Amino acid sequence: MASFRALVLHEQGGKVTPRLETVDDSRLPEGEVTVAIDYSTLNYKDGMILNGVGRLVRTYPHVPGIDFAGTVETSGVATFKPGDQVVLTGWRVGETQWGGFAEKARVKADQLVPLPKGLTARQAMAIGTAGFTAMLAVIALERHGLAKGSEVLVTGATGGVGGTAIALLSNLGHRVVASTGRAEFKSYLERLGAAEVLHRSVLAAPPGRPLDRERWDGAIDAVGSATLATILTQLKYRASVAACGLAGGSDLPTTVIPFLLRGVNLLGIDSVMCPKEPRLEAWRRLARDLSLEKLDRMIEEVPLSQIAGLASRILGGQIRGRTVIDVHR
Ligand code: NDP
Repeated sequence: MASFRALVLHEQGGKVTPRLETVDDSRLPEGEVTVAIDYSTLNYKDGMILNGVGRLVRTYPHVPGIDFAGTVETSGVATFKPGDQVVLTGWRVGETQWGGFAEKARVKADQLVPLPKGLTARQAMAIGTAGFTAMLAVIALERHGLAKGSEVLVTGATGGVGGTAIALLSNLGHRVVASTGRAEFKSYLERLGAAEVLHRSVLAAPPGRPLDRERWDGAIDAVGSATLATILTQLKYRASVAACGLAGGSDLPTTVIPFLLRGVNLLGIDSVMCPKEPRLEAWRRLARDLSLEKLDRMIEEVPLSQIAGLASRILGGQIRGRTVIDVHR
């Protein structure tokens, strides 16, 4: 009987404990396609799941990992055949069904996309859910009129969404201002393409007035809360902010004044249930518009056996860039 290695979460009395285990193939969930996984990654949401925060997982034992890249092993559909390279992000895989912190996964065919041409499985996972989200945010800003050479603010800059957003926007010819709480990473952010680095405290205080000086042609926000509220007061007339994350809090202490007097746009970004066509478009754009050299600067590779120890660090905002997981180590 075939088996594979997986990080399995067990729950007892509300406490979640991860264990590296050998799992029998017969325990894989229902699904049309079985994938031999090469790489997964650590995202903010994985940190929540590994620590049992937010009740995202309801059934244990559970294999976490919200994204993966690998090779089709068996397929019950015509769209994928054994040997095809595939990528999965979203669809609540790793939450409501077993995910990518394993050597094998079984999923629905519709949840997979082909590995984009020009990317390796490792590069696709260096992008992962975070980078895919950054791409969706850039596309949303473009659809709402972001012109070439714009000044764009990116918050949570040393994180996965932030770093990919900086690399993408700078390659597309925008002037990127990066907001970070970690001034020691200024040169890292500049190497990703930031033209200017702000300390996050400048944006984090709740805005004192409904409108501030108009500053940004666009913004990509991974932080939420007072930071997003401040951005709304500083957007230029008819400019947009793409709201991606809640690293600083899920509240939004704002007024409607920026919407009414400046016609600004608050664009919601969801990577999880993103439909197929925009999903394929975002991956095509990532393969075209992201500098692989810059992507490389964001990567730290870790073995699956060490990932559980990093969960608290990502929730504490202590991880830089993207953590790629080699599931075979
Ligand atoms: P990371 O942990 O890699 O990055 C988050 C960054 O936010 C940190 O690096 C830090 O950047 C900043 N940060 C952390 N804590 C705080 C705080 N208390 N106040 C202000 N800033 C803080 O996470 P990801 O990049 O993977 O994800 C970022 C956010 O986007 C998360 O909230 C995540 O849940 C969300 N997300 C949403 C998706 C969607 O579909 N909408 C998909 C993927 C992610 P710095 O030190 O530079 O300030």
